Amino acid sequence: MNIKEKIRIIEDFPKEGISFKDITTLTDDKDVFKYTIKEIAEDLRDKNIDIIVGPEARGFIIGAPVAYELGAGFVPVRKPGKLPYDTLKIEYQLEYGTDALEIHKDAIKKGQRVAVIDDLLATGGTIQSVAKLVEQLGGEIVSFNFIIELTELKGKEKLSPYRVHSLVKYD
Ligand code: IMP
Repeated sequence: MNIKEKIRIIEDFPKEGISFKDITTLTDDKDVFKYTIKEIAEDLRDKNIDIIVGPEARGFIIGAPVAYELGAGFVPVRKPGKLPYDTLKIEYQLEYGTDALEIHKDAIKKGQRVAVIDDLLATGGTIQSVAKLVEQLGGEIVSFNFIIELTELKGKEKLSPYRVHSLVKYD
């Protein structure tokens, strides 16, 4: 099944010069969506994953069904002010300014095996922040999984020596 064929590319979104990879044309196709989830789950199947962590919002769309498929738990990472209980927060640099993410303080137990899932790896800044939250809670990061990797931005190098797995790559 050709996943790349189902990803829609929108030029100059959300701003000029960005070639946005839109996965909604993949997730709205029942066969390709199922295939994509199964491919990610198969990659993780033998790794004894306890928890899938997914950042808002596309990390929820992909991470939750992978967790279900593996029989693992799902933990959301969200923008500040969205999670109702005590949270751990991390601030990170964007091209212009800063952003922040939060996780529930009791969401991961020490030593639990975690895979972090998002739709797309660009510079790796977002996922590196998610990793820091997981490790501060005592989780062990086993793998980072994505549908798409933008290789030119060298996110994989930034995440080294962690394991990174993606289904399709763009330059
Ligand atoms: P990074 O932090 O630079 O790796 O950016 C990755 C984050 O930005 C992920 O949460 C992605 O969902 C989002 N993102 C960046 N570029 C795209 C794109 O072309 N399509 C969809 N999401 C994107």
